[in-house]
Amino acid sequence: MANTLVKVWNDNSLEHIETFKGQEIKIPAHGYVTMNRHEAVEFKSQFKSPVFLKGGVPDPAHKKMIRVEPINDDKIEETQAPDDFDCQKCGFVAKSAAGLKSHIRANHLQSVADSELRKELSQEA
Ligand SMILES: [Zn+2]
Repeated sequence: MANTLVKVWNDNSLEHIETFKGQEIKIPAHGYVTMNRHEAVEFKSQFKSPVFLKGGVPDPAHKKMIRVEPINDDKIEETQAPDDFDCQKCGFVAKSAAGLKSHIRANHLQSVADSELRKELSQEA
């Protein structure tokens, strides 16, 4: 059943563009593409770098909102969707954007690549 096709929906109101296995996947806003099931599950769980707003908060408008829907009656093994405020470095789940920010500040400040963001985070400490 490895070649079973499924629909991969983009539930966001922005076009979803993501590189997957060296290929650019484009899914229109509230639209879908078809993939084989195995690839779809992998694609859905693949981490996509968030787009940060000025305050260093991940932009919810760019959140990956992928939903896999079977075309046949096959059940899809759902992988857990990422939480809104989970740490991309260690998986810590914060309850708010501010909580995530202070978590990053406390744990990952040195590994924040964006120097502007790092500066901003350290100023608030
Ligand atoms: Zn972390």
